[in-house]
Amino acid sequence: MTKVLRSMVLCCLIMSMFGFRALALDAGTTEPVIIRVCIMDDKESIYISVKDTYKILALNSDRVLMSGPRLATTVSGTKDGVMLGAKELKMGGIKIKAEGKARIYVGGRLFRGDVDIVRKDNGKLILVNDISLDDYLYGVLYHEVSHRWPMEVLKAQAIAARSFALYQARQNKMQPYDLRSDIYSQVYGGSTSERWSTTMAVNVTKGKVLVYNGDLLPAYYHATCAGHTENGYNLWSVNMPPLRGVECSFCARSPHYKWTKEMPLWSLERKLSESGYKIGKIVSVNIMSKNQSGRVDKMEIKDNAGVSIILTGKDFRQLIGPNDLRSTKFDISVKFGSLIIDGRGWGHGVGMCQWGAFGMASQGKKAEEILKYYYPGAEVATIDSIKNKL
Ligand SMILES: [Zn+2]
Repeated sequence: MTKVLRSMVLCCLIMSMFGFRALALDAGTTEPVIIRVCIMDDKESIYISVKDTYKILALNSDRVLMSGPRLATTVSGTKDGVMLGAKELKMGGIKIKAEGKARIYVGGRLFRGDVDIVRKDNGKLILVNDISLDDYLYGVLYHEVSHRWPMEVLKAQAIAARSFALYQARQNKMQPYDLRSDIYSQVYGGSTSERWSTTMAVNVTKGKVLVYNGDLLPAYYHATCAGHTENGYNLWSVNMPPLRGVECSFCARSPHYKWTKEMPLWSLERKLSESGYKIGKIVSVNIMSKNQSGRVDKMEIKDNAGVSIILTGKDFRQLIGPNDLRSTKFDISVKFGSLIIDGRGWGHGVGMCQWGAFGMASQGKKAEEILKYYYPGAEVATIDSIKNKL
């Protein structure tokens, strides 16, 4: 870690002592460097090890609680603080810093940067990795695209993921973390997930982000759109031309282009009743309307007593589970007591279609062309050019 970066991290820590967080800027590149990624949540205890010199500090302070040549310990939550091995500490959390190039080992994965363990009000623990933006991207790309794909897709993905991460960091300044490490943000696997090609894509696009109208673009992306990307306004309060959806004929080779899911009606009845709906024996499930991208807008579920429930496609996907119902682009029928769902695509459908980007790169398109296609009106620019907006 450079002297400059170290001083910026310190600055960030001091700011967070006062209950807010600012993006730390590297004075050399003015690139925001520190991203806070939630790795674990609601844990009773967490095992941590470092195979090199380490320091443990009180959270949001410079007070060193422990240091040594190697670390292997368990941290758990108590009534008033945390247990660090056999030592009880009456404080809200701790920060673990590995010295030099050592990585911190948690939950079967290695992490660059620092690790914060914070006690929640319910006594359980949350684990946050404080990491530089590009170090974070090294651990994201492998999970988001195949590291064997052409370099131009990997570059497009690096720029989109960098923009998305910065946007989330800006939105979550007052929260305990910026991003989660699962599919609800961007899947992040720590340094265990780094590969040569994905690291190269992050390095050659260093400092590049997507901007629209002079501001950072929330560059959403997804696995496969299956024909047309979705208007972000149908899902969230994002209404801007780059996220209104485009036709996509490039993702036909995706393994997620078409799929079928079958589930017994009693399973749907159970899910509905667990979510608070009053429903008897289901007799029909019909799609009422689809939106301009071909995704389900509204659907109706009826029971044998004539009770009718109307759900949006988004609510239905949430009810079934986003991995079980891969997208809201589907047709539905009821046969012999089962629900048959003929679906297309995987993901929310907004922004760049990753399999489409792969298709475009396979036809010789460059990263910037891919991004401009999926985010019409957006431009690739440097973080420097929007630093006053971060
Ligand atoms: Zn597509």
